[in-house]
Amino acid sequence: MKNFSKRHSAPILFVLLWGGLFCLLLCGCGAQTSVPCRYADTAMGTVVRQTLYAPDEGTADSASDAIKSLLDQLEEQELSWRLETSEIYAVNEAAGSREGYLLSNEMTQIIVRCLEVSREAEGAFDMTLGSVVRLWDIDSWAAVGQSGDFIPPDSELLRQALGNSGYDRLKLEPEVSGENGEILQARIFLPAGMRLDLGAAGKGLAMDRILDSLKDSGISGAVISIGGAVLTYGDKPDHTEWKVGIINPMEPGEYMGILSLKGQWCVSTSGDYERYVEADGIRFHHIMDPATGMPADSGVRSVTILTRDGLLSDILSTACFVLGTEKGLELARQYGAEALFVTADGETVMTEGMEGLFSPAER
Ligand code: AMP
Ligand code: MG
Repeated sequence: MKNFSKRHSAPILFVLLWGGLFCLLLCGCGAQTSVPCRYADTAMGTVVRQTLYAPDEGTADSASDAIKSLLDQLEEQELSWRLETSEIYAVNEAAGSREGYLLSNEMTQIIVRCLEVSREAEGAFDMTLGSVVRLWDIDSWAAVGQSGDFIPPDSELLRQALGNSGYDRLKLEPEVSGENGEILQARIFLPAGMRLDLGAAGKGLAMDRILDSLKDSGISGAVISIGGAVLTYGDKPDHTEWKVGIINPMEPGEYMGILSLKGQWCVSTSGDYERYVEADGIRFHHIMDPATGMPADSGVRSVTILTRDGLLSDILSTACFVLGTEKGLELARQYGAEALFVTADGETVMTEGMEGLFSPAER
């Protein structure tokens, strides 16, 4: 047997080498970590793109499937205002009731954090704008703007819807508290007519849940986009930086510039080009000023926020859009977040930390 294996070792090696090469060509992303696996799908009403680096294709496929199902679950069981299966739907249904609604631990944390930012942002972020958002019928607008015979809501109806909003009118009654007095679980009481809308926080939450699921997945590096939100994680096999393009609001097919990032980051952008309608030459976009119930008009076309934490980046991008550059920068700094504003005249204004990460496109 010894002689046989020796005599045949050269041809066997030859077959193995060619077999290996053939397999590499066939498997695409599968056989080595230096080739990423890419996936595109829709979830949470938007396009989800995943680029995953894994030791093998099977690992990448199962991580990608897990991400897809957690996004579907997040929408169906927690966030949707439309689906009867979701917790937000149940909270809204209980508006005006004496017993309110007992939140899950997870939703308690989400709402506590949203309320905290609402207070710090002087109400520029307000998850109680549900009735205003419904009246504008934002969800029926195409993801990319459309022109046509859009008629803005009647001002009296808008006044009523705004009267039903206000984060400071929402009540949380702690049911379970932690050792340091923090609220772990609460009962929520919405006044009659109030509706929660977590549209400005959903993609951020999705990034946090994806980060959790990546931790034990065998994935060594990933970049995942959910609509205008982008998550980077881990490292590429060649250790180069992740590149995230910042869309030019004036020309949404082009980039303002590129962020170069290492490791884990959550990048959220709120822009007036993401979802809008136009009528008589006026653009109505999807980010509302809670003071007026009208699309915010703070001299900003887009805001990009960079934090380690998804929920925070998403809430801050919406709040900073409404606040404008000066107050927005102040708010971002207060949370240790990096921010980049594109103003109505096409200028960029950013935090010091962002300057080191952003390379403007040549124009
Ligand atoms: P984003 O694209 O993250 O800025 O979120 C915008 C979405 O959040 C809209 O489609 C609405 O559903 C909702 N929304 C709009 N304006 C506000 C606001 N000022 N505060 C909280 N949610 C808002
Ligand atoms: Mg947001």
